[in-house]
Amino acid sequence: MANSLLIRNGMLIDTDPVAARPGDVLVEDGVITAVGPDLPAADGAEVIDATGRIVMPGFVDTHRHTWQAGIRSAAPDITFTGYLERVLGELAPRYRPEDVYLGNLAGALECLDAGITTLVDWCHINFTPAHTDAVIEALEHAGIRAVLGYCHGGDGGPESMAAEARRVREALPGGLLTMALAALGPEIVSPRQALDEWRLARDLDLPVTVHMGGHGAESAERGLAFLHENGLLDPGTTYIHPNCYTGDALKRIAGSGGTASVSPLVEAELGIGYPATGRARASGIPTALGGDTVASAPGDMFSVMRVAYALERARPDGLGMDFTTRDVLRMATIEGAEVAGLGEVTGSLRPGKQADIVVLRMDALGHAPVHDPIGAVVLSADTRAVDTVLVGGGVVKRDGRLVHHDVPSLVAALGESAARLTA
Ligand SMILES: [Zn+2]
Repeated sequence: MANSLLIRNGMLIDTDPVAARPGDVLVEDGVITAVGPDLPAADGAEVIDATGRIVMPGFVDTHRHTWQAGIRSAAPDITFTGYLERVLGELAPRYRPEDVYLGNLAGALECLDAGITTLVDWCHINFTPAHTDAVIEALEHAGIRAVLGYCHGGDGGPESMAAEARRVREALPGGLLTMALAALGPEIVSPRQALDEWRLARDLDLPVTVHMGGHGAESAERGLAFLHENGLLDPGTTYIHPNCYTGDALKRIAGSGGTASVSPLVEAELGIGYPATGRARASGIPTALGGDTVASAPGDMFSVMRVAYALERARPDGLGMDFTTRDVLRMATIEGAEVAGLGEVTGSLRPGKQADIVVLRMDALGHAPVHDPIGAVVLSADTRAVDTVLVGGGVVKRDGRLVHHDVPSLVAALGESAARLTA
């Protein structure tokens, strides 16, 4: 008999299209099998009473350096150059595998706790195989759905990068974890190295996720021209911080089947261009959101959605006022899933998808009353509202608490690790 779970009597927010209506969600063997009113519970089914609550797909974060959880807020008020110097130049090299494990576990659990059920972990702390194994172990232990974006950080040339990426692909346990090639790309490394990265991604049949388009108009144009000239504008490539691209460049990316990830708060704060949210979407590029780095910004999707919403509406060219709470909720869910390459797996309540579901409790001061459920999620809710979280039908948070982890012990261990890293 199927392992059955019924979420009953909630205010359902679906995302494809975005709409709210009362109803139930039936989950069998981890998969959503029915959505609608008055669904019957099978004998022995677990029932979650969602009366007065909002039930929606889990959020998808399409760009986060998850290992950085232990250096949260360690780099406020900095520019992108300052981030490179302080975070990547000074702090990252001090990470041992055990620090990576704690950071990645805490970072992934922070996501689940806040209703982010899927993560593209843009991982550039892979100094040794042991560092990477710590990342994989932490993601698996957390129980989050994740795309491990592997960025080679070890010594050696293209052969050692290829061998290690191949090893990582073999080492991934499957299930909730898949892989992408996190490329440094032609704006950061030499043409030779960028070619090696794309060749490796193709050899291993991995999508590329790459920081491109955020470092000035000239760099953006040059980088995209390089990909074009070398025939590397592959479908499924995610362009992170695509803010300096012209309309023509965005059309070229759209035509190639590329996707975009904006991290509006970090982009505004560090000077990585004005978020291209609406321009990218208008060009036809699936465009989603990322928290990027908690060293300089909050890591929850409520914060990211609100900044994306506000900055798009406040676009200097005055063209942003059509951007709605529904649009930004799509970016945080179904478009996030598409950008992560998981559009058929998660991001909406469609039957057949994995049951990655969040139940929000909206009865606190500052949350209640709820008039427009979608507006309430985007404009009023915060992490306090996240009551219950399911990943693949498994409950990872219930009654406001993560169920599989001793959070106080983890936070204590993370603090000890962080104290050493920042000493
Ligand atoms: Zn980044």
